[in-house]
Amino acid sequence: MIMKKRKCPQCDIYSFYILNNKGESLLVYVDENYNIIARNPEESLYGYNLDTVYCLGCSWKGSPKSLR
Ligand SMILES: [Zn+2]
Repeated sequence: MIMKKRKCPQCDIYSFYILNNKGESLLVYVDENYNIIARNPEESLYGYNLDTVYCLGCSWKGSPKSLR
């Protein structure tokens, strides 16, 4: 299965993280349908804020829907 990943609008990479309310981060990517997916399939997104993704390569953060 080939899945297209969304890219950072600033630096063009597709590695992001999300945060929960304890400030813990989880590595994710965003697929072409704007679904947030944990890099490690064993990890759960439960408790994480899915409204904002943070780029690992630059200071960009924002809604998954604004990714390229
Ligand atoms: Zn970036």
